[in-house]
Amino acid sequence: MQLADCHTHTHISPDSDAPLPDMIRKAQELGLFAYAVTDHVELCRWYPQGYYHTMPRNEEDFFDYAARFEQSMAQNAVARELAQGLTFMNGIELGEPDADFGLASSICKDQRLDFVIASLHELPGKLDFYFLDYAKEDVPALLMTYFTTLLQIAEWNGFDVLGHITYPLRYIVGDAGIPVDMTQFRDIIAEIFRTVIRNGKGIELNTSGYRQTYGKPFPDAELLRLYRDLGGKLLTLGSDAHKPEDVGAGIAEGAALAKSVGFDRIAYYVRHDPCYITI
Ligand SMILES: [Zn+2]
Ligand SMILES: [Zn+2]
Repeated sequence: MQLADCHTHTHISPDSDAPLPDMIRKAQELGLFAYAVTDHVELCRWYPQGYYHTMPRNEEDFFDYAARFEQSMAQNAVARELAQGLTFMNGIELGEPDADFGLASSICKDQRLDFVIASLHELPGKLDFYFLDYAKEDVPALLMTYFTTLLQIAEWNGFDVLGHITYPLRYIVGDAGIPVDMTQFRDIIAEIFRTVIRNGKGIELNTSGYRQTYGKPFPDAELLRLYRDLGGKLLTLGSDAHKPEDVGAGIAEGAALAKSVGFDRIAYYVRHDPCYITI
């Protein structure tokens, strides 16, 4: 089966130190058909720190993603040459487009891009879900705000796919061990799916959860089936690798899951146009 990994990071993302040639080599060794680099562009910190009149909230609060974006575009232009045997996609993971939808739209229209994943890692005024203390949070209210914001992002519609739509569960369920009854969010998640489908956009099956305590992809089988039942056809698979060892991780498993809920093909994107691989 031919496979595509549509979500990976390199050292340009603050949470990775992977050289891109090593990532590409791993993708080639695995015989992937298509491979995307999607370094982080956190829109809520697009400008240099001084613009926001604020101090970093912790040692991982990086600013000036505009500079990282340019670095990434330059790196990926060179990488195309290295990526022989692969369909190489120049992508970004655009975090928090809700911080400025106008700016987000102009970034997504950059002619150099093949592919944009829209993600939500943090809510306005809060830290990344990674940093929150869930013993002190109202988890259902927090998740409702998360999905409401994700619906606004779906309605904005400037992306190609919505990334890891159940991202907070990695920390809430996986790391903090707090069970979440997802039935209370089923209506709003269905609304997110309907919006994405109506707009001809897709979602990703993010397979990083398979190798985390959470143990399931984002979203899980039940929500993936809901997406399919509502008419969802565009699905990308992404390992969210931050190091070469994780390139392609869980992609075959994710493809098998997609097939089991009724998908017969997965997508990858060239110049924002979906292309398909039969699974
Ligand atoms: Zn992400
Ligand atoms: Zn990512």
